[in-house]
Amino acid sequence: MAEVNIQSILRDNIRNLKPYSSARDEFQGEGVVLLDANESPFNHPLNRYPDPHQRALKSALSIPLGIPADSIFLGNGSDEAIDLLIRAFCEPSVNNIVSISPSYGMYEVCANINNVEFRKVLLNDDFSLNVNALLKATDANSRLIFLCSPNNPTANLLAAEEILYLVNAFKGLVIVDEAYIDFSGTPGLLSGITKHNNLVILRTFSKSRALAGIRLGMALANPEIISILDRIKYPYNLNQLSLNAAQDQLVQPDVHQDWIHTILKEREVLRSRLTSIPEVIKVFPSDANFLLVKVKNPLELYNYLKMNGVIVRDRSNSPLCGGCLRISVGSPEENLLLIRTIKSFK
Ligand SMILES: *Cc1c(COP(=O)(O)O)cnc(C)c1O
Repeated sequence: MAEVNIQSILRDNIRNLKPYSSARDEFQGEGVVLLDANESPFNHPLNRYPDPHQRALKSALSIPLGIPADSIFLGNGSDEAIDLLIRAFCEPSVNNIVSISPSYGMYEVCANINNVEFRKVLLNDDFSLNVNALLKATDANSRLIFLCSPNNPTANLLAAEEILYLVNAFKGLVIVDEAYIDFSGTPGLLSGITKHNNLVILRTFSKSRALAGIRLGMALANPEIISILDRIKYPYNLNQLSLNAAQDQLVQPDVHQDWIHTILKEREVLRSRLTSIPEVIKVFPSDANFLLVKVKNPLELYNYLKMNGVIVRDRSNSPLCGGCLRISVGSPEENLLLIRTIKSFK
């Protein structure tokens, strides 16, 4: 069980912040005549500001997630949560962040925007965590460790026991980005947030829930951390249309499960077809909805696919990913077209 003094690692200005109080903070409930927010009386219901605390969606989410609503932060994509965690806990040019390489680029970009040092520790050759090197990279000024499991772009789950070892050993927050966890066949580390007050899980509606367009991400952690993020977010960070779209989807859990099933089936079809193509050197194991594929001529193949209207991601310049393209699992038709096009290469 990890117990970190959260207040002691918080930036002073954030600890002392008096948050903006919106009209909808000062009055909640069903007023008959709402004249407190300078809204328009026309164009119901979008004339009204959305609930700044997103109570309805959080309460709907708390059931499938199996955690209380006050352990849920909702953001404009996971990207908002990443940025707010850095702004809450990292004093620019004083504190630092430790993360893995290769991984999702937004952690480093957000650190750079906030002028916070970002230390990258290479994964092992098999893409597993180098726990000792990660701990060695931390010092008294380290506030956050960013991990990503399943990791983008390497597609593998990180070992839960190694992540929890870091959670127990590190005196700051360990943030585990589980954007792809629904494709992994494992529940992830969410249940650990009640035992470890320095563990933060990131989830998103952008991948298995097929709602990247609404920009909805989650940070899941103990209520003390969640209330800090809530204090510093834009008051109305989620718009009403996104909240509605998320609510609508939550009432169709079977559709969500069907989509995951289809993607997992297609992932295996894609893997076996790719493996039989001579241009392909290796398809790495995947716990996500994409495949990391090592090919003989990455740049030429990337450009050839692009010329033929099939866009994949060139990851050949990422550490440990020499020669690799990252390919999302699409619909059966899209995957077939991808395979046909790769087969016609050269
Ligand atoms: C796609 C992805 C996300 C999703 O970010 P959103 O801002 O929620 O769309 C988060 N983390 C990783 C590692 C991803 O690949």
